[in-house]
Amino acid sequence: MKFTEFNLAEPVMEGVDAMGYEKPSPIQEAAIPLILEGHDLIACAQTGTGKTAAFLLPLIHRILNDPDKTNTLKALIVAPTRELAIQIDQQLEGFSYFANISSIAVYGGGSGAGFDQEKRALQTGAHVIVATPGRLISHLNLGYVNFSDLNYLILDEADRMLDMGFLPDIMKIISFLPKDRQTLLFSATMPDGIRKLTERILNNPRQINLAVSKPAENVLQAAYLVYDQQKIALIESLILGRDLPLVLIFASTKSGVKEIEIALKRKKFNVNAIHSDLEQEQRTEVMNRFKNNDIQILVATDIVARGIDVDDISLVINYNVPGDAEDYVHRVGRTARAAKTGVALTFINEKEIGKFKRIESFLGNSIRKLIMPASIGSGPEWKEGDDTRKRFGGKKPGFKRRNNPRDSRN
Ligand code: ADP
Ligand code: MG
Repeated sequence: MKFTEFNLAEPVMEGVDAMGYEKPSPIQEAAIPLILEGHDLIACAQTGTGKTAAFLLPLIHRILNDPDKTNTLKALIVAPTRELAIQIDQQLEGFSYFANISSIAVYGGGSGAGFDQEKRALQTGAHVIVATPGRLISHLNLGYVNFSDLNYLILDEADRMLDMGFLPDIMKIISFLPKDRQTLLFSATMPDGIRKLTERILNNPRQINLAVSKPAENVLQAAYLVYDQQKIALIESLILGRDLPLVLIFASTKSGVKEIEIALKRKKFNVNAIHSDLEQEQRTEVMNRFKNNDIQILVATDIVARGIDVDDISLVINYNVPGDAEDYVHRVGRTARAAKTGVALTFINEKEIGKFKRIESFLGNSIRKLIMPASIGSGPEWKEGDDTRKRFGGKKPGFKRRNNPRDSRN
């Protein structure tokens, strides 16, 4: 299929050409016509497959074709982190370079001047707001945001936006929006419990499910069984002497992230960390330096686990086993973007074997355990015995794989 077949407005097509896209990805092929037709939508597709353009292109087209040409707030895009809101806003600016569409990113942190600037833009009008929930609510509470002309609500990383942490904020935001609107949800994962909640905010939605909750195909996944005290040496041996572009290391806690950064700095690696204890200016600067390849290794909490698109990440390391399987899918999806390949390695310590088995069972396959380099010594042993997947893996009578609500193959 070709982009021209969508009959998108000329300025939108110029934006597509300028981005260098040659043909639409599968999610774009499926979602763009439905959005142009005006349907509500739940769209799931693997990480790095172009979901952003799948909602931005038809959105820009529809705003351009709107007979109401005033500069009122027409669309609201909500994302879970400031970094993702900034990135979506940047992509929107790229695609709408040739279209007369104005947008503003509304996200927390930063100075009071930033808040005033957002306030002015919200009052004088912009077509599209890309926001994080907390910051948007601060503005909404002050009473000057007029959403009466709003036609589109988009939740990126929708399952995260509707999970317990964010749901009250999202429902509050929705209470400010017109009922008559088009609502679009996008994510790579969509647990059933969350999918049920979408009934509350969608109207007769269409659904697209391309490999829900599966890591992208081009991510080569493997794991090491490794004691905590061996992990830094293991990272050193994985990175040293190899021509790796960018490496992203996830740790579960801020303190963990800080400790890894210090340990790797001591070993003279070109490394920085990002976590929520940093000022927003520092967070943005670190992200920019990483994107520009000025730093090779970024150590991060889950604030960069979702949505962040950096071209050259060739290796993702999970310093700890992620809290749940969705987090795993999103973290490993920071590599192998846009049909490239990448490697994702997970470190499993002796206490995390059961947790990792649960992730494997969610994914429906086991992940290869690599042998530790001899210089590091041996790690903990993988105990096949407690493998839940093996115990229940379809062999036991009465267990039906398709009953697993999180298994997207069904
Ligand atoms: P997702 O939201 O599905 O994880 P993104 O929207 O961040 O993925 O896109 C991943 C990368 O693929 C981005 O760098 C984007 O510019 C690129 N991309 C998206 N669509 C296309 C396309 N049709 N052709 C080439 N590259 C694309
Ligand atoms: Mg995305």
